[in-house]
Amino acid sequence: MECTPNLIFHHGKIYTSDTLCTIAEAVAVKDDKIIAVGSNDSVMTMADSKTETIDLAGRLMIPGLNDSHAHPFMEANQVTAVSFSEARNISDLLDALKTRAKTTKPGEWLLGSMSWHETQLSEGRLPTREELDRACPDNPVSIPRGAHVKVASSRALQIAGIGADTEIPGGVIDRDSSGQPTGILMDAAADRLTAAEPKADASKFGEAMIAVAKKLNSYGVTTSAESGAIGASEETSEYNLKTVMTLCKEKKLPLRLSASFFSTSYEMAKYGVTAFSETQNTDFFKFQGIKVMSDGGVESANLIDPYEVISGVQPYPDYHGIEVWPPSRQDELRRIMELCAGAHLQLQIHIHGDKSAASIIPLLSEQGNKTDIGKLNWTICHLPLSTDEQLETIKRLGICVTVQHQPYLLGENYLRYWGNSRANAMARYRKMVDMGIRMGGGTDMPIDPLNPFCSIEWMVDRKTITGKVLGKEHSITLDEAVRLWTRGSADCEGWGSMIGSIEVGKKADFAVLSQDIFQVPVGEIHNTVAVQTWVDGKCVYRRG
Ligand SMILES: [Zn+2]
Repeated sequence: MECTPNLIFHHGKIYTSDTLCTIAEAVAVKDDKIIAVGSNDSVMTMADSKTETIDLAGRLMIPGLNDSHAHPFMEANQVTAVSFSEARNISDLLDALKTRAKTTKPGEWLLGSMSWHETQLSEGRLPTREELDRACPDNPVSIPRGAHVKVASSRALQIAGIGADTEIPGGVIDRDSSGQPTGILMDAAADRLTAAEPKADASKFGEAMIAVAKKLNSYGVTTSAESGAIGASEETSEYNLKTVMTLCKEKKLPLRLSASFFSTSYEMAKYGVTAFSETQNTDFFKFQGIKVMSDGGVESANLIDPYEVISGVQPYPDYHGIEVWPPSRQDELRRIMELCAGAHLQLQIHIHGDKSAASIIPLLSEQGNKTDIGKLNWTICHLPLSTDEQLETIKRLGICVTVQHQPYLLGENYLRYWGNSRANAMARYRKMVDMGIRMGGGTDMPIDPLNPFCSIEWMVDRKTITGKVLGKEHSITLDEAVRLWTRGSADCEGWGSMIGSIEVGKKADFAVLSQDIFQVPVGEIHNTVAVQTWVDGKCVYRRG
């Protein structure tokens, strides 16, 4: 035999994610590649005295998970922020702040992470300014919730210059009955607070990215998309991307990354294309193309029918969300499409509301009649609401759709803002899988928790963090969910046949899991972590 493996994993349950969903017992690896998959006996005969053998002791091994829609750069910028993902009530959240305050100098800011939502707290509300003041009297505190809302302590409000008489156009300063700010700030008012906070240290960005990659490895993630490198400006986006490219080149980032450049205008897209279209893609870094938004998230998706009126929160009966590309701007979007097609790059477009889908999918179809946009892996991100006709167009053009578990954390808000019928009609995975639409799994971290098993669990049981089931008929099987997260994501990100399954000739990227997700009750899948994660034939993570 020409190849003797340097590594053999044996006595495992190996979920290969090949086209037949084969379960094997052993895998042999030579350097960075898989050279055999099969039974213990057949693979073990390949070993010689130098082959390292790893007994999996019956554990489940799956192909490395591939997050096809995430924002690791945003996560890197908040990697040192206080995490509230484990908080289940206000006092847990305040405790997390108090713990951090113990190691923070008086006067220094305490910044929270955005990866949480008040619906995970038993009180179902944001903390108040007074609660933050009592918990951390010596530090200004700022807690983002998602991308539009922040809560500030009194010291933080004072530093940002926000008081009883402050008005900020385009923003909301929530006030109590006496007119004093409660600490809750939205949009431009939250931006005012952000401007007063200390900036992330650019020189530490590379280090922070490595920390994020390691965190992802601990969940078995071996490949991630950067779905729109968002910097404070084109220059910072470019700087961050170039920093990461260097890390990938030096093999310092323990995962593979595909990145696109976030653009809000043709000029910005052109800047990104000019800076990166000549990038030499490698096995570890791929420049994908341009990312644009067409609307917002659950509170600002562009909807055909108006939002629900929510007393004190969403008072406008005629509110339809945000429209980034109204008819007057559609020619600019067409030019961005031409730009990407001409440069043979991917275009990723965020579509959240049904009105956005109705206006953008015909533009994609127009471009698709001129260019093979399927070959360029053009992608719609999210697409919670879709019609059969739109799905037919997506299928015909070979467009990819990347789906995440926003409703897991934000389900209560979908119900409140969109109403029962829209919240239950969203994320039509069953139909999309049955049609054979190209789909990838993802988390949208840090908007949602970076744990891929939360996403996989949601796809199967459609349960929110508060236990509500939304549109159970749109669920897919666990097998299908894992395939979306492995083969599906690899396809959408253009890694092709290099990764995505445990098959001969593919890269040795895989994860050994703490529990057999095919055996535990579905509701426990989110408790899964990796015990070993391997990228390119090297162990990048080992638990304990
Ligand atoms: Zn996103």
